[in-house]
Amino acid sequence: MRRKPPAGAVTKAPEGLPSPLLENWEWQDDAACRDVNPELFFSAESERGMRKHAREVLAKSLCGTCPVRRQCREHAVVVGEMYGVWGGTTEEEREPALHGRRR
Ligand code: SF4
Repeated sequence: MRRKPPAGAVTKAPEGLPSPLLENWEWQDDAACRDVNPELFFSAESERGMRKHAREVLAKSLCGTCPVRRQCREHAVVVGEMYGVWGGTTEEEREPALHGRRR
């Protein structure tokens, strides 16, 4: 018999996200970007052209050293991450996978 969760416990993930079970998220403990400013992975609204490209190259180089790159990319596709560098891929590079997912 299942016990009632404690008051305030998160029992249901927001739509599209994996449930808040440790095994769904623990890969992030090994992320190479764990202590890195998230701005490296997400473009400012005004960022374009070479500046954006240079930031993405830097982010992707860190992803290239990351032991959880595959899990990160899969997560981005599964939840439909539309922004940022995840698993060494930009939003443009994930677009075909995201498009296929929406069908
Ligand atoms: S693959 Fe890149 S974005 Fe994903 S956890 Fe690793 S360093 Fe962070």
